[in-house]
Amino acid sequence: MNIELIKGDITKIQTDAIVNAANSSLLGGGGVDGAIHRAGGKQILDECIEIRNRQGKCKTGEAVATTGGNLPAKYVIHTVGPVWNGNEGKESKLLANCYKSALKLAESLEVKTIAFPNISTGVYRFPKELAGKIAVEEVKNFKSAIVEKVIFVCFDNENEEIYRKLLEE
Ligand code: ADP
Repeated sequence: MNIELIKGDITKIQTDAIVNAANSSLLGGGGVDGAIHRAGGKQILDECIEIRNRQGKCKTGEAVATTGGNLPAKYVIHTVGPVWNGNEGKESKLLANCYKSALKLAESLEVKTIAFPNISTGVYRFPKELAGKIAVEEVKNFKSAIVEKVIFVCFDNENEEIYRKLLEE
């Protein structure tokens, strides 16, 4: 697996799939979720509503896919990260599940290149260092004959620095 680090806005990335740090309602929110829905247009929300009508809310650690609407990416994989409440064991496992679920779903969609934001490290307050460690570990552990490249898209300097160090190791 080829791993890359980019500093910037995930809505601008041209890949087969980008991952959204959604909330369980799937109806949009702030942060990266808001940016993806704004840039991707109504199509993404319509598909999210369809998914909700079909299967209900998306549980923490799980993932669902829509098309990319007006985005350069073909798909958006929406996953729901855990809110950090200090229960390290439980919340770390849930965050790891986000990466696992998104990668599995990407594989089933025959995605070759996928971009991840730093799930849960914004409004959900997950400690950035720990979140980065989990993200890199899950991606490295994921063995796939389909997914060839994972791009970590860091929006803030702190995450960029954390990922740079983790990927140098
Ligand atoms: P969560 O609720 O999962 O914490 P947030 O969207 O609040 O989700 O934050 C997750 C991460 O996404 C944060 O590190 C934030 O800096 C980052 N982020 C916000 N906007 C964008 C964007 N347009 N592209 C990539 N990352 C973004």
